[in-house]
Amino acid sequence: MVVVLESGATPGQVDHIIRVLHDYGFDVHQSTGVQHTVLGAIGVHPEFDHRQIELLPGVSEVVRITEPFKLASRAFKREGSVVDVGGVPIGGEAVVIMAGPCSVESEEQIDTIAARVAASGARILRGGAFKPRTSPYAFQGLGEDGLRMLRTAADAHGLKVITEVMDKSQIDLVERYADVLQVGARNMQNYTFLKDLGRISKPVMLKRGLAATIEEWLMASEYILAGGNQHVILCERGIRTFETATRNTMDIGAIPVVKKKSHLPVVADPSHGIGIRDKVIPMARAAVAAGADGLMVEVHHDPDHAKSDGAQSIYPDQFDQMMQEVRLIAQAIGRRLA
Ligand code: PEP
Ligand code: MN
Repeated sequence: MVVVLESGATPGQVDHIIRVLHDYGFDVHQSTGVQHTVLGAIGVHPEFDHRQIELLPGVSEVVRITEPFKLASRAFKREGSVVDVGGVPIGGEAVVIMAGPCSVESEEQIDTIAARVAASGARILRGGAFKPRTSPYAFQGLGEDGLRMLRTAADAHGLKVITEVMDKSQIDLVERYADVLQVGARNMQNYTFLKDLGRISKPVMLKRGLAATIEEWLMASEYILAGGNQHVILCERGIRTFETATRNTMDIGAIPVVKKKSHLPVVADPSHGIGIRDKVIPMARAAVAAGADGLMVEVHHDPDHAKSDGAQSIYPDQFDQMMQEVRLIAQAIGRRLA
C-alpha cells in the first residue's frame, strides 16, 4: 500500500501516520519526491481497512499496490530514480556508457582498453576480477590484483568502475575498489546475498537472471531495496529461449516494460544479450532507442586472445563507431550521452 501525503503535511502529521502504520504491523519506507512525499507500507494484513489511514490528517490518497514488488514500483515512486555512481548519474536525461573487457587480464590490457573507451566517451570501466564461469576449470579472474588494476586504469583515464561481486565474503573488498557492484545473472536468485547487498550504501547493478521473468527480476531488486539500499540499477542481459542462433535472446521489450512498472534505471548489456561480436552494435542501438538509461559493452583490443568472452567483445574502433551511432539515437529521442 502506498500512502500519498498532502503537500502541506507537517512533520508531526507524518510521524503520526508512520506510527499508526507501524501499530498495524506495516514496515514503512519513505520516499520524498519532487511533488509528493509517499510512504510505502509493506506487509500483508488481510483484515486491515485502508480507510483507517485515508482519514488521518496529512494523507492525500491511499493506493493499494497489486503488484508483488512494492519499493521498486512506479506507484511507490512516480519519478524515475537517478542513481549516483561516483558522480555519474544513471537514470537521468543522459545515457551512460560502461565499457571494458569481460575480465581484467593484466595491467597493460586493462589500461589499453580503458584509454580507448574513455577517448570514445565511455564514463564507466567494466572488467571482471571475480568471474562466474560455467566451467570451474575456466579462468576465474585475478581477484584483488584484478580489482587494483581496474581501479588504477579507471583513475588514469577519468572513468568510474563497475565490477562483479559473487558472494558475501567479497563485498568489503569489492566495495573498496568499485563505484558500483555488479550482481551477475547467475546470482539474481541468491536471495541471502541480495539481502547482504541491501545493507551496503554503494550502488548495485542487478542483472536479469538467465531464466527470470520481469516480475522475478523486479522481486529480486525488492530484496536489495527492502534492506535499505535504494541505489539499485537493473540490467537486461538477454534470456534463455528456444532460439539457438544467438547466445541469449536480447529482450529489448523488457526495457520499456520495466521503465513503466518501475522507477529504477535500466541498463542494457548487448554483449551478453546477443553473444556475437557483429551483432552487438545493432542491439546497442536498439536498446538506446527503446529507452535504456545506459549500456554495458564488452570491448577488447585483442579479442582472439581474451581470457573470456572474446567472441562477443567488440574492437575499440567498433566501439567508437557504436558511440557515434548511439549518440545520434539518444538525440533523436530527446536524450544525450553522458
Ligand atoms: C559479465 O558481465 O561479464 C557477466 C558474467 O555477465 P552475466 O552475469 O550477465 O552473465
Ligand atoms: Mn562476459
